[in-house]
Amino acid sequence: MAETRPALRLEGGLWCDEVLARLPDLLDGTIDPTELARVRAHLAACDVCTRFGGRYGQTVQRVRAALGEAPAVDGGLSERLRDRLRRETWRG
Ligand SMILES: [Zn+2]
Repeated sequence: MAETRPALRLEGGLWCDEVLARLPDLLDGTIDPTELARVRAHLAACDVCTRFGGRYGQTVQRVRAALGEAPAVDGGLSERLRDRLRRETWRG
């Protein structure tokens, strides 16, 4: 019974696929602050996501960069993230 799933890591209380599953919510700004903090902690510790994420890889990198430059989790973060990601990732 060979699993074909890529290697995943548990960081920040989330597995890689859980982080990827939350990206749409994060981009929509509907992710709750607790989940956002966990995603943030995961991305800060995990290098697998950017590779495993495939087409999400670029998004993960941009999310990580945006989270890294954000001083704190606040109401404006998800909006900024969404705008930036739509501009840079979703265009064309
Ligand atoms: Zn990961």
